[in-house]
Amino acid sequence: MQYYSTNNKNNKVNFREAILQGIANDKGLFMPESINPLSENFISNLTEFNFQEISFQIAKNFVEDEIPGNDLNSIIINSISFEAPLVNLNDNLSILELFHGPTLAFKDFGARFMARTMEYFLKGMNREITILVATSGDTGSAVANSFLNVDGIKVLVLFPSGKISKVQEKQITTLGNNIAAIEVDGTFDDCQRLVKSAFVDDELKNKINLTSANSINIGRLIPQSFYYFESFKQIKNKNQKIVYSVPSGNLGNLTAGLFAKQMGLPISKFIAATNKNDVFTKYVNDGNFNPKASVETLSNAMDVGDPSNFVRILDLYKNNHALISNIIFSKSFSDEETLNKIQELHDNNNYIIDPHGAVGCLAFDKYKNEVGEDIFGIVLETAHPAKFLNVFENNLNFKPVSPDRLNQCLNKKGETEKISSNYKDLKEILRS
Ligand SMILES: *Cc1c(COP(=O)(O)O)cnc(C)c1O
Repeated sequence: MQYYSTNNKNNKVNFREAILQGIANDKGLFMPESINPLSENFISNLTEFNFQEISFQIAKNFVEDEIPGNDLNSIIINSISFEAPLVNLNDNLSILELFHGPTLAFKDFGARFMARTMEYFLKGMNREITILVATSGDTGSAVANSFLNVDGIKVLVLFPSGKISKVQEKQITTLGNNIAAIEVDGTFDDCQRLVKSAFVDDELKNKINLTSANSINIGRLIPQSFYYFESFKQIKNKNQKIVYSVPSGNLGNLTAGLFAKQMGLPISKFIAATNKNDVFTKYVNDGNFNPKASVETLSNAMDVGDPSNFVRILDLYKNNHALISNIIFSKSFSDEETLNKIQELHDNNNYIIDPHGAVGCLAFDKYKNEVGEDIFGIVLETAHPAKFLNVFENNLNFKPVSPDRLNQCLNKKGETEKISSNYKDLKEILRS
């Protein structure tokens, strides 16, 4: 399969280069040349396949013959090694729990598949890669965990000192080996700026192969379409109109859902649920896209002011706003509404949802009220609520129980390398 750059359709590379390079040399994002529909027979008989078998069929559609079937199968078995269960709340709504992986967020799916695929390609290539990633929390932990001990790859995770949760910091700093945690004296925006400076530093480019592990890497998006099929399989009554509500930040999860629809999954509507960072919501509702600085909210993984995958959505629908707003409904919500929703689901459904999933539920309610017809909603629960204990402790009178794997890393000692927000410091580390 060939992948073109969103900046120039004639600028193409194969799947291997798309995933190893992360971003095109003209700074565009890679898109598959075609997204082929899967057979109708496969889609109507999903219940006959397990999650890994479903994932294999989808991955094959994007990889084609660049990885032999046996090897692709091993990659899937090693990366998609936990479940994505659908939990019914009532006849019209269920929650897709995407937090059963090692770092308790949906990003584990993408990061693990990408890590094992990169490892496969690098084997025998005698090429070393350095992954630079800036994180405000969940991305760093999923990427660090996934790439731990992968040969040929070094990972540098940059995080803003004192600005990520204790749990998230431990998840990044306690791994060691090929994972270095860089503590930046600055904000998340500073971390992102440092990463960007490194990517455009020609002097560095001649010395090391730098790549990105953010959701601009197509290797993270592809596996995210696996669980749309897996969850669809689990719907009991498929005669209703099926709607997916996606808590959105950089729009990677939403884009993966659109890929699934392109492959033939009969999804009638997508809901892009946003917090007060509503740049995409505004675009869907009035056609104007105006990126701006992000604002802090309780659903902090969605605090994005300039969503990177927006260009992929435009590309997929050929810039046709009418088409996009027909497929996607979008609505933004405040922190107060988010807390009320968490409380309501706790009181009425005995379910503890995290702040991101709560925004997804709010948007589903809104859409259901507006269309007033019988629809079945699936809300993507993107992280385990225990990752956001502070939100519960500061605002609510109940809190979720932390899973063991979270408690374990809390007892370990972390190690970081501290740098200033001056690019010189990061460059020195990268050179050595
Ligand atoms: C990353 C993240 C999101 C946003 O996902 P995008 O693919 O960037 O839109 C939502 N919720 C959680 C918990 C996340 O970690």
